[in-house]
Amino acid sequence: MATGDAKPDPVPARSPDSPARRFVPFDEARATILARAASLLMPTEFVPIDEALGRTLRENLVASEPSPRFANSAMDGFAVRSVDVASAGPDAPVSLRVVETVPAGRVATLTIGKGEAIRLMTGAAMPEGADAVLPVEQTVGGQAPVVQALASVAAGEHVRAAGEDFAAGTVLVSPGRVIDPSVIGILATLGHPDAEVSMLPRVAVISTGDELVAPGAALGPGQIHDSNTHTIRAMIRAAGCEPGPCWHVLDDAEAVATAIGRVAEHCEAIITLGGVSAGDFDPVKQALPALGDVELWRVGMRPGQPQAFGTVRGKLFFGLPGNPVSSAVVFEMLVRPALWTLLGRSVLDRPSVRAVLGDAVVSKVGRRDFLRVTLEELSPEESLALGVAYRARLTGTQSSGAFSSVLTADGLAMVPDDKPAADRGEVLTVASTFLPRGVHPRGPSK
Ligand code: AMP
Ligand code: MG
Repeated sequence: MATGDAKPDPVPARSPDSPARRFVPFDEARATILARAASLLMPTEFVPIDEALGRTLRENLVASEPSPRFANSAMDGFAVRSVDVASAGPDAPVSLRVVETVPAGRVATLTIGKGEAIRLMTGAAMPEGADAVLPVEQTVGGQAPVVQALASVAAGEHVRAAGEDFAAGTVLVSPGRVIDPSVIGILATLGHPDAEVSMLPRVAVISTGDELVAPGAALGPGQIHDSNTHTIRAMIRAAGCEPGPCWHVLDDAEAVATAIGRVAEHCEAIITLGGVSAGDFDPVKQALPALGDVELWRVGMRPGQPQAFGTVRGKLFFGLPGNPVSSAVVFEMLVRPALWTLLGRSVLDRPSVRAVLGDAVVSKVGRRDFLRVTLEELSPEESLALGVAYRARLTGTQSSGAFSSVLTADGLAMVPDDKPAADRGEVLTVASTFLPRGVHPRGPSK
């Protein structure tokens, strides 16, 4: 018996004055949104590298010099000519004359000749004439003017060659990468005090609904707390953007239109929450004709079918459904990739894994279902037999009002558009999300 929600999609009621609602398959909706976002790429700014973590790099990081810049010692020890110590061993010490000592940050003034050594610290430049480093552990009497070599070394041994990390001219990082600690390390290695990054898109959130009350205020009869505003603002921040103006308006089309017009001047993207479906009091839907280049559409996805998308005064506009699960899933699957496009990021999808479905679900041809699932690791035997590493289990009811299904999820399992259902045992792709546990990073990639 399937455990998913088997109800057919309701045919949207359409009052004579409501705008037409086009059905758009999920991939087409995403492509339309991303194309619009790509035309609104954020300008760049320079930030100090210590403040660049998590920002989107917008410059090529090219090595102007090789790294290391000069051959240097990988060990504390003695720069030697390998031929001089070829016969050395624990029972056959070879005496070398120590002519100089060079710490890191200094260069030798002398060239090594036959039978000579220069004492080097790790990172010190290799002196002229030497071709190897004899580690201090393989010597005795190094403090004296004469050191005893107790081992041979091959030419090049314990030497970090110039350019062995990267050559001059190497493109080390390309624009579009999120700056992580390793990118900051490269910026610093190259000597950049600042990084050129995308400016942060400010994202305005307007919640709609007569029933909504801010957390902290007492609830009257029929009222609920406005949770979506806070979830979505957190998702905006978690996506590396800046939560912008934040309004709540009652179910009044004029008030919605006014709010949208006001916030548009202070943000790069606008999200409305609720009021976009088929009900009689859906103010976003009613405000649409006055909004600008915005379309009301039905996206082939569940949860989150009724939506609006477009631009208002040159700013991206997303009308998200009011149900808490719907707005979170639509944000994750459509709004977040659009924001990452505004940022100029080169990767728009989060990591995903393949998992065998543990519960049967009902879907519908033409619709992509995003199931909130937990992931359990399979035993080695099961994993070998099934060719995947995880089992995905539904996080309880998949009702779009049941936010607990989000709270416990590791990711979103996607039922492809062409499937009317997914059976137990079927293998699906599970996308990781903002969700707390996240997809196991060691899973096989899609
Ligand atoms: P709507 O799309 O406006 O018809 O809302 C659909 C459902 O989501 C209703 O049960 C609303 O009460 C609920 N809802 C709408 N907006 C929010 C919000 N900001 N926070 C929590 N629930 C909401
Ligand atoms: Mg509403």
